[in-house]
Amino acid sequence: MTDTLPEHARVIVIGGGVVGTSVAYHLAKRGCRDVLLVEKNDLTSGATWHAAGLVGQLRASRNVTRMIQYSVKLYEGLEAETGQATGWQGVGSLRIASSAARMIELQKVANTGRAFGLDVHMLTPEETVERFPGLDRPEGIVGSAYVESDGYCDPSMLTQALARGARTHGAALSTNNRVLGFEVENGTIRAVDTEQGKVRCDAVVNCAGMWARQVGAMAKVNVPVVPIEHQYMVSEKVEGMPRAFPVTRDPDNMIYFRPELGGVMMGGFEPNPIPWSTNGVPWDFVSQLLEPNYEQFEQLIEHALKRSSCLEHAGVKRLVNGPDGYSPDGGYVLGLAPELANYFVAAGMNCYGIAGAGGVGKMMAEWVLDGRPSLDIHSLDIRRFSGPHYRSTRFIAERALEHYPKHYTIAWPNYQAKAERSLRRSPLYETLKAQGAVFSEKNGWERPQWFAPDGVEPVEEPSFGPGHWEEHVANEVRALRDGVGILDQSSFGKIEVRGPDALAHLQRLATRNIDKPVGKLSYTPLCNEGGTIEADLTIARLGEDHFYLVTGTALVGHDLHWIQSNVAPGQSVSCYDATSSRGVLNMGGPRAREVLEQVTDTDISHEGFPFGTCKELHVGAAPVLALRVSYHGELGFELHVPTEYTARVYETLMEAGADWGITNVGYRALESCRLEKGYYVWGIDITTDRTPLDARLGFNVHLKSGGDFIGRDALVAQKAAGPDEVMCLFTIDEHIALHGAEPILEDGEVVGIVSSGGIGHRIDKTVAMGYLLTDRARGTHYKIAAFGTEYAATRSERCAYDPDRGRILC
Ligand SMILES: Cc1cc2nc3c(=O)[nH]c(=O)nc-3n(C[C@H](O)[C@H](O)[C@H](O)COP(=O)(O)OP(=O)(O)OC[C@H]3O[C@@H](n4cnc5c(N)ncnc54)[C@H](O)[C@@H]3O)c2cc1C
Repeated sequence: MTDTLPEHARVIVIGGGVVGTSVAYHLAKRGCRDVLLVEKNDLTSGATWHAAGLVGQLRASRNVTRMIQYSVKLYEGLEAETGQATGWQGVGSLRIASSAARMIELQKVANTGRAFGLDVHMLTPEETVERFPGLDRPEGIVGSAYVESDGYCDPSMLTQALARGARTHGAALSTNNRVLGFEVENGTIRAVDTEQGKVRCDAVVNCAGMWARQVGAMAKVNVPVVPIEHQYMVSEKVEGMPRAFPVTRDPDNMIYFRPELGGVMMGGFEPNPIPWSTNGVPWDFVSQLLEPNYEQFEQLIEHALKRSSCLEHAGVKRLVNGPDGYSPDGGYVLGLAPELANYFVAAGMNCYGIAGAGGVGKMMAEWVLDGRPSLDIHSLDIRRFSGPHYRSTRFIAERALEHYPKHYTIAWPNYQAKAERSLRRSPLYETLKAQGAVFSEKNGWERPQWFAPDGVEPVEEPSFGPGHWEEHVANEVRALRDGVGILDQSSFGKIEVRGPDALAHLQRLATRNIDKPVGKLSYTPLCNEGGTIEADLTIARLGEDHFYLVTGTALVGHDLHWIQSNVAPGQSVSCYDATSSRGVLNMGGPRAREVLEQVTDTDISHEGFPFGTCKELHVGAAPVLALRVSYHGELGFELHVPTEYTARVYETLMEAGADWGITNVGYRALESCRLEKGYYVWGIDITTDRTPLDARLGFNVHLKSGGDFIGRDALVAQKAAGPDEVMCLFTIDEHIALHGAEPILEDGEVVGIVSSGGIGHRIDKTVAMGYLLTDRARGTHYKIAAFGTEYAATRSERCAYDPDRGRILC
């Protein structure tokens, strides 16, 4: 399409589907004129052309909802802006509940959506049928959520409109030109090799859809995406069917209906999806479909007939079977690939790429031009797939296949993947399992959630909670409060930073002054230039030039990338993932010291081993790095043990602690305790949307002694102006289930959103935290809306449990 290929482009976008054109459009619209889109065939010749075009905004993740809200606004106005029609039909959408559990889920997501201004209304069964009279078999409908601004578009026309907009803003498009490889120098893409020649560039964005893994491999970048087949049918004209009705999804029956020229389009997400060409998609798979698979589709027709007789009277005009790229967890794969300095990815659209493309394009343009997106979308960040198992086709495919039906299955908060479990196990896995541990998985690791006592089956039933496990969790919390508990946290991410410039490097990242004597610990956020929180971790100074960093199980790839990629030119420092080198046992409670004293010769008294320090000691004969920290709010010792000694240390402590009733505890007990203490989780309570000042972590921002750290200027400015929103802590007298994203109300008005919450078993109340508009963060009496009920919530300036820290500092 472009006559001559330029010699240089600032950004090369690979792929001319809806995502690539949206990324090019947004880059160009932002003023990045030197953008080149390269497409191996014609625009929209991959998965885009045959999509059904549905755009639904109601999502389990609030920031994905916000991204798709943006898509809708864009698609509504794109024709006026570009002169190219998009086929946008703002017919609205119905999401039907055909079960009580689904209704709870709908209320939950509708609640959150409304807090972000989404026009969602809950309808009765009668009102539902009124909106879509084709539902002539409404038995069992409990209700529905109606989103007025939802709709559908023509994906090919939308892509052409985005392409035209991109061109108008100065982007160049090169079609029938396949990318063949990359020229890489010092971890940076210098040029892209295409069939029509080489183009030097400053950055690339891989938007190659189901080919993205292959295009990634050309630069040794792992893009964990595999194709899966997906089908829908188009019916003949149906007598009496209105030409316009809301897109109607009945997820309990796995199906959707969309208007199509006086007939219906019907598709869905079956529980037994079929992978396709997982070891590589042929380059010459162009504007093609797969063979219709009627046998596979039959199950969806059967479900559709439960709701509507229309397909009994109308024939099937065509059955469309096309592949799309899926990721292992059903989320988009976005952002800067950790392997290279300037290689971005926007792939893994999981069959909702049309809906997401507008928002994805905007986020990616911000990522490329500003260094980060304006919304916190870490749950879509490619760095979540940094573990080596995400390079395995088997792992990616098995997990992707498992997630495919989750488009329509209920998003239980305690859902656990089943495929490829028991992949990463601590040395204590079998021992804990034998004692009733119920495991959950994170980043491939099995982690004990809670322990089922004798006579209780060690399984978790799906639940919106409070779950059947709470009484057992309460007992574990009691052990921590009254005696001593032990938790296997071997999955903790561990990063070592060493070298002559290690201190200088970390000082530039940390908002806290970490230049403390060897043996001291620092808890600190790491901020970006905007002053928002990129990471939040504990740093132990093990030597003058040697630091040991502890972070979350799933955050190590993200954090290590942040730390490594910010090493200044010429600095002599090495940063590496040391997760596998040590197991971790977290022993806490008022009797913890007495237990540890039995098995070590080292002085571990409060004076000899103060809070906020670390010590090398022996437990029995085993070497241990002990950190005097506490995330549960009790006296605690975090024992980091060379992996092969971990089992022995556990046995020694269990034996020594028997007289004090030492008890295994799981992550659910830790969660209950940390909520009562008002301690945060990165990615939930503190994110790249929030600064330490928003989060009331100002005590961790050392503007005077911390030197010139990244984000300092932004934080100085914010300190002068004051944050717009601040973190607040709440208690609710009843035990209720909170999962985050519930609206917080004052005088009937939404003034904030819960970031996390749950039952605090030591104070016997529900605890919640969330950000409030600063000028609405002064009161005491609020309400938190959850599952259709508004609960009285009391705001407190101090945390709910032991605010003076007497139980820790002893
Ligand atoms: C049957 C079906 C129905 C669907 N319905 C919906 C729906 O209702 N709503 C919704 O939101 N989503 C839907 N989807 C999903 C949607 O189609 C995709 O998520 C979306 O089109 C993906 O867009 P993309 O730009 O990432 O990929 P693609 O459209 O596949 O674009 C990738 C492009 O990269 C190009 N490319 C690959 N390798 C190279 C290379 N080496 N050099 C240059 N170019 C290259 C390809 O030629 C291709 O054009 C559906 C999918 C299917 C299969």
